[in-house]
Amino acid sequence: MFSIFDRCFRSSLRNVTCCFGLNSTQNTRTCTSCHNSFPAGSRITEFDGKQYHPDCFACADCRKPITSQFYPFNNEYLCSACHEARFPRKRCGKCGSVITSAGITFAGASYHAACFLCVTCKQPISAQSKISMVDGQPCCVKCYEDKHAKRCSRCQKAIVADVEYLEFEDKYWHKECFTCSKCQKCIAEESFYQDGNLILCKDCI
Ligand SMILES: [Zn+2]
Ligand SMILES: [Zn+2]
Ligand SMILES: [Zn+2]
Ligand SMILES: [Zn+2]
Ligand SMILES: [Zn+2]
Ligand SMILES: [Zn+2]
Repeated sequence: MFSIFDRCFRSSLRNVTCCFGLNSTQNTRTCTSCHNSFPAGSRITEFDGKQYHPDCFACADCRKPITSQFYPFNNEYLCSACHEARFPRKRCGKCGSVITSAGITFAGASYHAACFLCVTCKQPISAQSKISMVDGQPCCVKCYEDKHAKRCSRCQKAIVADVEYLEFEDKYWHKECFTCSKCQKCIAEESFYQDGNLILCKDCI
């Protein structure tokens, strides 16, 4: 049995705006980074109500001025391309496209929540439920019990994942269903004897 959990891949993408320092109000302002003024008519990068020279608001990795989207990074900024290079986004194991919001990690692969479907009934599997694996694909508990699980030789019920069971000559038993054919004592932890279809404890042979 594998458990799945919500894992958020959301990064804090921010936006700067660019404007031109044309009027006198803007001319009296100074760059938040270098504290020098803006020449009239020059480009100004604005973020969070603060103004910067375009060169003063540059990507920490490629040093190019950031003109639109960026990611905050250790008190500096990363352009989208450099952020992607440093932190490659996860791709969905089903549809292959990038996961930008909460996803699901299962057996080493990541999925969009909407792409995380039961291999048998094709319904989305909720991140809270427990799931099983069939041929490397996620399978919901209900389908697993209905279609894929081993059946107990004694009670005929499904042997769901995570429970203890015994296997003997291609037959399966829940641990508590493995009982002596005569005295019905559970002999899962004991030595037993086979007599035709009967399984007997050491006291009943
Ligand atoms: Zn500056
Ligand atoms: Zn960059
Ligand atoms: Zn997907
Ligand atoms: Zn299913
Ligand atoms: Zn059973
Ligand atoms: Zn017995």
